[in-house]
Amino acid sequence: MSNDKVRRWIRPEVLATTAYHVQDATGLIKLDAMENPYPWPEDIKQGWLKYLAGAEINRYPSPDAAGLKAKLRREFTIPDGIELLLGNGSDEIIQIIVQAVSAENTVFLAPEPGFSMYEVISESARARFKGVPLRQDYSLDTEAMLQAIREYQPAVVFLAYPNNPTANLFAEQSIIEIIEQAPGLVVVDEAYHIFAEQTLLNRLVEFDNLLIMRTLSKLGLAGLRLGFLAGTVQWIREFDKLRLPYNINILTQMSTAYILDHTEVLYDQAAKIRHNRGMLYNELNSMPGIRVWPSSTNFLLFRTEHADSNRVFDNLREEGVLIKNLNNTHPLIRGCLRVTVGTESENLAFLSALKKAIVR
Ligand SMILES: *Cc1c(COP(=O)(O)O)cnc(C)c1O
Repeated sequence: MSNDKVRRWIRPEVLATTAYHVQDATGLIKLDAMENPYPWPEDIKQGWLKYLAGAEINRYPSPDAAGLKAKLRREFTIPDGIELLLGNGSDEIIQIIVQAVSAENTVFLAPEPGFSMYEVISESARARFKGVPLRQDYSLDTEAMLQAIREYQPAVVFLAYPNNPTANLFAEQSIIEIIEQAPGLVVVDEAYHIFAEQTLLNRLVEFDNLLIMRTLSKLGLAGLRLGFLAGTVQWIREFDKLRLPYNINILTQMSTAYILDHTEVLYDQAAKIRHNRGMLYNELNSMPGIRVWPSSTNFLLFRTEHADSNRVFDNLREEGVLIKNLNNTHPLIRGCLRVTVGTESENLAFLSALKKAIVR
C-alpha cells in the first residue's frame, strides 16, 4: 500500500498527532499509572475463576448489562430516578459524551493542568478544547472558569473531583456555581472517589445538567475496563444511542458482578492504600529538597526543588522505579513528578531510589 493513499485519506489532524504513549515498565517497579498494587486473596481468586468457567464465551454478552447495572446501583447507592451508562473504561464514556454533542464550533472546557483525555478526545472530534488555568495553589479559579463559560458557552465542562495530576478536591461551592452558570453539561469525574471519600452523587437530582462519572480502574480493576456515568434518563437515553452494541464484554460483566459480591476485598485494599499514602506523604515531606502536595487520591505530586526533575526521573528509572514525569506538561507543574502509592515495600524502594536519584 502506498503512503500516498494514507496521506490522501487519513485526516490531517490524525496524521499530525502521535498515539497515546504508555511507558514501557518491563522489569521496573510500576508506580506510574495509579494502579492498585495488590492482588486478590487466593480464595477470592479461585472463586472468581470458577465463576468465569460458566461464561458462555460463544454468545454475545448481555447488550444492556442490566444485571450488572442493578448490582452497581446497589453498591454505589445510585439515587432513584438516576440512570447508568456503562463504558469500556470512563475513557469510552468521555468519547460517547463528546460524540453526542460535537458539532461545528463546539467547545469543551476543563481546568488545567487536568486529565489529558478530555482534551485528546475533544480534539479527535474536531471540537475546540479550552483549558482554564488553576490558581497557583491548584484550587479552582472560579472567576476565571465562570468568565470562560460566559465567553465560550461550552457544551461540556469536565471537572475531575479530585483532580489528576494535582491530587486535590476542588471546593464543592465552586463546582456548584459552575453547574448553576454553565449553559451545558458539567461532568464531574470521580475516578478517585474511593481515596477521597467525597462525592456529588447525592446532588444529581438537584441539577438537570450534572453528570457523575466513576470508574472501577482505580478501585483495583484497571484490567477490566469498566466505567459508568450516572445522570437523568433524558441524558442517558441519548448517550446510549451512541454506545456500540455489546461494549462491555462478557468477562468484564461477569468479573465485575463477582467482585461486587466481595467488595470488602477492594475496600480493605483501598484503606491500605490510603494508609500507605499518609506514610509516603510524611516521608517525602521530611525529605530535604522535596516539595509534596496533600493528596485525596492514590498518587502524590511532588517537585524536586534543587535537582532537575528530568534527571531525577531518568535516575529513578535506572534505579528500577517507574513514575510519571510531568515536567513540560503545564507551567503550573513545571519540575513536578507524580508517583502512584504502591505497596509498603514498593514505596520504601521508591524512597530509597529517590534519595539516590536527587543527588546523582
Ligand atoms: C485514571 C482516570 C480515569 C480512568 O479512566 P478509565 O478509562 O476508566 O481507566 C478517569 N478520569 C481521571 C481523572 C483519571 O485520572
